[in-house]
Amino acid sequence: MDFSLARILAARKRIAEITDRTPLVPSELSERFGHEVLLKLEITQPIGAFKLRGAVSAIFNLPDGVTGVTCCSTGNHGRGVAFAARERGIRAVVCMSKLAPEAKFAGVRALGAEARIIGESQDDAQAEAERLVTEESLTEISRFDDPDVIAGQGTIGLELLQARPDLHTILVPLSGGGLAGGVAFAAKRINPDVRVIGITMDRGAAMYESIRAGHPVEVEEVPSLDDSLGGGIGLQNKLSFPLCRDYLDDIVLVSEEEIYRALQAIYYEDRIVSEGACVVGIAAVQAGKVKLSGPTATIITGRNLDMGIHADIMAGRDVPLGDYTVKGTPYEP
Ligand SMILES: *Cc1c(COP(=O)(O)O)cnc(C)c1O
Repeated sequence: MDFSLARILAARKRIAEITDRTPLVPSELSERFGHEVLLKLEITQPIGAFKLRGAVSAIFNLPDGVTGVTCCSTGNHGRGVAFAARERGIRAVVCMSKLAPEAKFAGVRALGAEARIIGESQDDAQAEAERLVTEESLTEISRFDDPDVIAGQGTIGLELLQARPDLHTILVPLSGGGLAGGVAFAAKRINPDVRVIGITMDRGAAMYESIRAGHPVEVEEVPSLDDSLGGGIGLQNKLSFPLCRDYLDDIVLVSEEEIYRALQAIYYEDRIVSEGACVVGIAAVQAGKVKLSGPTATIITGRNLDMGIHADIMAGRDVPLGDYTVKGTPYEP
């Protein structure tokens, strides 16, 4: 496995001027949970999500003379790539199918990238990104399976243990595993006893199923309150899969209802607006699925969410997700 703490330390130097060293603040939920719970607020990054770290780490490590970059995410990764490319002064083309909402293209364009709207599916968008690589010499930036991207996300692990060497547990939202793999690797190189748990939703948990199977597998993607955690890990996964397999102590799954209640808790108690993806750590503790036994940190990964859905959840209304409906309940402390 081509990965090392040195890579993460080098990434920290590359990203230092563009990304923020985000605050680590105590949660009001600590008392209820019986242990100190700390929130690493990646929502305060310039694009509102931690993905900027990986994108800057990768794009600023490309050789001189690079013509430009491409990716096919209009979510937080697309925004991170757009922002980082603008900082480096190179072209960025973000590919997406016609199915993505207009607001997402506008978001990427506002960061100075070209939005290429093509085809009816994610596969069509991926094919266009690959065409740009071969025909226009752009470099594709992977969302999670790239050593420089993972090293960028891993800088969060360094910051956590520098701020609090006494951390007992780190709860990390998990999808493709770039974040969890990088954070777990960094944290365990500094303190092998720290416990690192990946948390994801119980519907379409690609990394969880892949680790159980012993190799990357495909899962069916369904609409979820934490849409930043959807998608596969890639059947050709080279790095984030082995890192998560070897360095995570456990993976815990949470339901849509548990995410719903955690979004309410972090809003009403901590006054934080966040995406469903960010609160899976809180959801797991609140549901009794993770037992705490010392100071615990969780990463509040992003805040690029649909405010209409957020308002519905805060009011206790039902949220339809495709053919599944999350039953609403008013917040109860
Ligand atoms: C991408 C993302 C994650 C998951 O990161 P991976 O590296 O894919 O596991 C979690 N939260 C948010 C807000 C994200 O954008």
